[in-house]
Amino acid sequence: MNRNLILVTEDDQAVRNLITTTLKTNGYRFLTAADGDEAVLQASTHNPDIVLLDLGLPDMDGVDVIKSIRSWSNMPIIVISARCEDRDKITALDAGADDYLTKPFSVEELLARLRVAQRRLSFMGAEGGQSSPVFVNGKLKIDYSGGCTYLDGKELHLTPIEYKLLCLLSKNVGKVLTHTYIMQNIWGRGWENNVASLRVFMATLRKKLEIEGDNTQYIQTHVGIGYRMMRVE
Ligand code: CA
Repeated sequence: MNRNLILVTEDDQAVRNLITTTLKTNGYRFLTAADGDEAVLQASTHNPDIVLLDLGLPDMDGVDVIKSIRSWSNMPIIVISARCEDRDKITALDAGADDYLTKPFSVEELLARLRVAQRRLSFMGAEGGQSSPVFVNGKLKIDYSGGCTYLDGKELHLTPIEYKLLCLLSKNVGKVLTHTYIMQNIWGRGWENNVASLRVFMATLRKKLEIEGDNTQYIQTHVGIGYRMMRVE
């Protein structure tokens, strides 16, 4: 039984009902909002654990809801958008959303995204998130202060760029980072169109994170969007 409180922001009543029924069946507590104003108000009054946010709202752009919530809270935000709105999804992630769901989605998908967000929440709570000097995720260990990375107890030899990429992903574990966000952080502004290079660095980094006989995926690829480090058991 999980008692996390979820804020469901969706103007389409049928979708809202599907989500709330799923939440109820799975032991979540929830609040609902049918527009952006109500979402911001509910979020600030009730401080939910996770926000589900439809991007197409009647009164305001979902991205503005994200910006408003991000001005005072890091609560996980999962955006919901239609398949044709890829650009909006990326804008939402750049504005600080954690993850996305594309309509139509299944109940299983919804529950899986909530579990990822919950793991991120417990990580941020238990280990102090970004402030911890050592990051441990499954067999991966990063000693930020020493600048060393270990996999299954053995030191990894990473190039400076690979190490920077790994640190950026690990400090945002559970969160989808867009290509633009990653490139700005690694190479700085003006290098946002370097997706081809990013892909090459990511490929070599992922290769170095593979252990023979173990198919743990530390880094997830989101085609056309970006990458995410998954919290593994
Ligand atoms: Ca809508």
